Amino acid sequence: MWVEREVFVMGTTLRIGVRAPSRAEGVGAIQEAFHAVRRADSLLSTWREDSEIARLNRAPVGRPVALPLELYRLLRDSERWSRETGGAFDPGIGALVDAWDLRGRGRIPSRIELAEARSRAGMARFAFADRSHSVTKRHEDAWIDTGAFGKGAALGAARTALRRRGIESAFLNFGGQVLALGAGRGAEWVVPVAHPARRDQPAMRIRLRDRSASTSSQSERYVEPEGRRLGHILDPRTGEPVPAWGSVTVVAEDPTLADILSTALLVLGPEAALVWARPHDDVGVLVLEELEGRVVARWNHGLSPFLVSDSTHNRGG
Ligand code: AMP
Ligand code: MG
Repeated sequence: MWVEREVFVMGTTLRIGVRAPSRAEGVGAIQEAFHAVRRADSLLSTWREDSEIARLNRAPVGRPVALPLELYRLLRDSERWSRETGGAFDPGIGALVDAWDLRGRGRIPSRIELAEARSRAGMARFAFADRSHSVTKRHEDAWIDTGAFGKGAALGAARTALRRRGIESAFLNFGGQVLALGAGRGAEWVVPVAHPARRDQPAMRIRLRDRSASTSSQSERYVEPEGRRLGHILDPRTGEPVPAWGSVTVVAEDPTLADILSTALLVLGPEAALVWARPHDDVGVLVLEELEGRVVARWNHGLSPFLVSDSTHNRGG
């Protein structure tokens, strides 16, 4: 039977549906998955003071902070992805989030303020020690923003918990990032991909099985100081918010990777994203742009197996 539950966590809704032999087993498995997600939140949340990442973020400069191994590995991986994306993805952007007041009402920093914030931002402001799993801040105002990969990591933890309970078919929707486990009603789960500018409107459909799909866009969350709309995704290379050019959806087996890459590729912009995606066809990349009122879709080879044919009115790349 199909069992579904919903919870509010990490500032958004997590809905989990599972196929289980009985209601009790289904509910039990979902509770376990919720527990795993709350644990991920207790490691990764920058919105509460008692999380492990918050402890690192407020540590004094020069003092190593030993972290739980799973968090240390995540930060290590994200630092590696920062290098592999030429700095387009960089969770060390905390000082830039502050400069633009993206967690408040938003503000426009002066050129000098922005230059200063850039000198305090980036994963290079943190030193990693693999043997002790500790991280040391190199600048007082540096902090790590886990927003671009936290939901993906939590979905990964939830999947592990469900599998441990013997669940083979499940569908998880975590504030827009989805994870499909096993088969849905048909052979796969069919999932809408939102319109790049109007998030509540579907633009295309993809079908998934044992995959996660993450979408990043600037229309999702923004502030509007002085009448200027600032999206929540920054280009760490310039320190500026990325223009609202469209959206990137990444389909990957690893939900953390899907989350990281959708953010990174949005920062790169449509052309560079597709150039990056071409040889990386172990992941599916879908780029949506709104041009003259029409949604134009382009994708890499890796996405082709997931496309629902009635929505492929555009071209692959
Ligand atoms: P997502 O919705 O997964 O694309 O993640 C966006 C969130 O990641 C933002 O709300 C910030 O918390 C954080 N973020 C913004 N820009 C970057 C970036 N260039 N690299 C890493 N994290 C970022
Ligand atoms: Mg992301």
